[in-house]
Amino acid sequence: MGSGISCNPQHERSSPTSQPDGGRVVKIIHFNDVYNIEARDQEPVGGAARFVQKISDILAEEEMLVIFSGDAFNPSPMSTMFKGVQMVPVLNACNIAAAVYGNHDFDFGLDDLMELKSSCNFPWLMTNVIDKETDRPLGDGMEYLVLQYKDIKVGVLGLVESGWMETLSTIEMSEIEYQDYVEAADHYGSILKEEHGVDLVVALTHMRWNNDRRLAACAKHVDLILGGHDHNYGVEQVNNRTIIKSGTDFRELSKVTLVIDSENKVKTVVEKVIITSEIPENENIQLHVADYQEKVGAQMDKIIGEFGVPLETRFSEVRTEETNMGNFITDVMRVALRADVAILNSGTMRSDCIFPPGKFRMRDLSAILPIMDELLLLECTGSQLLKALENGVSKYPELEGRFPQLSGVQFQFEPKREPGNRILQDSVYVLAEPLDLQRVGFKLLSRGV
Ligand SMILES: [Zn+2]
Repeated sequence: MGSGISCNPQHERSSPTSQPDGGRVVKIIHFNDVYNIEARDQEPVGGAARFVQKISDILAEEEMLVIFSGDAFNPSPMSTMFKGVQMVPVLNACNIAAAVYGNHDFDFGLDDLMELKSSCNFPWLMTNVIDKETDRPLGDGMEYLVLQYKDIKVGVLGLVESGWMETLSTIEMSEIEYQDYVEAADHYGSILKEEHGVDLVVALTHMRWNNDRRLAACAKHVDLILGGHDHNYGVEQVNNRTIIKSGTDFRELSKVTLVIDSENKVKTVVEKVIITSEIPENENIQLHVADYQEKVGAQMDKIIGEFGVPLETRFSEVRTEETNMGNFITDVMRVALRADVAILNSGTMRSDCIFPPGKFRMRDLSAILPIMDELLLLECTGSQLLKALENGVSKYPELEGRFPQLSGVQFQFEPKREPGNRILQDSVYVLAEPLDLQRVGFKLLSRGV
């Protein structure tokens, strides 16, 4: 994982209780970023039912603190329909001791999140973001938490980065007060150590690796970082502190053993557990998943609108010209995020057919857009916008997915000209104004990853 430090405790398997100095031990199960409760076909199959069974098997053997590092309520096809409600019984069956919010947990807005939170049987943390309206941590999270593991007190923080806060579509930056996560860790870490006398401080984080590394390098009181947001499994040591990211989607978890020696130094041993089809399914959760799979089927028949004209989504059309369905989707995108221009690569539209006029069902929408994508709002210059459009028409007339469906912008192009130079410059208009190449600050909406 990038600029990692050489020491990699992932491969250590020594039994911490056999340490010569007989250090005190805390054991933790960690996971993060879970979206689909169904298992998938290929290994590791994951799935909530096997995951829950694995956790209960581990807990039946030994006491461990279960820690979750955020992102559970969205996105997934089920979450689109049930707004994350299907996830709550699964999380509640995991015996979670503490969780930090992830960016996607805010996708349906604060009111929905408060409902979900109130059905959870464990606390959510948010140490470094304040909701100005309530003067409380965002999402009514806890600033910090003290967990007891046998005779050891474990202080827990929940830290997030500014990057994803700025992109939350349901929350404005002006409504929140963000504190740098290192400052917050120092502030609350010293409260935990001095006022609560904790033996250890564990930071739950939902941020990118570079920020977790900075936290490990700079924060004074953090002994372990259990991260989310990145979905690749990884363990790193920075500044003698271990950072762990435990994969995604109920496919992996980490068993973490912390040994506090007589000088209060902390040693971390990590074991990666992979959720394969060999692990049996928990019966209750398996029934719960099957129940929701059935509900998805019923939901697909739901009528969500009516169209008076045939809707064009054939590859031969959407990959060579604007179509009414492409216009409809990009208009919705542009208005929803208040962009000047929306660009959708036509490859996103997967249905390859004409929908007849009449009732439009959920099944039709998910045939057109089966992939759960995030939208990306970018600020760009006029010339960057022109380059993006040039890229979109560079392969014409091949049926390339890059051909754009557009809202807010119009142009003409000459396919005989060289790729990259096909658009007739005076033909480009943004919201009925001729394109100014020098202009900065166009709000461009595109498909994210
Ligand atoms: Zn995330």
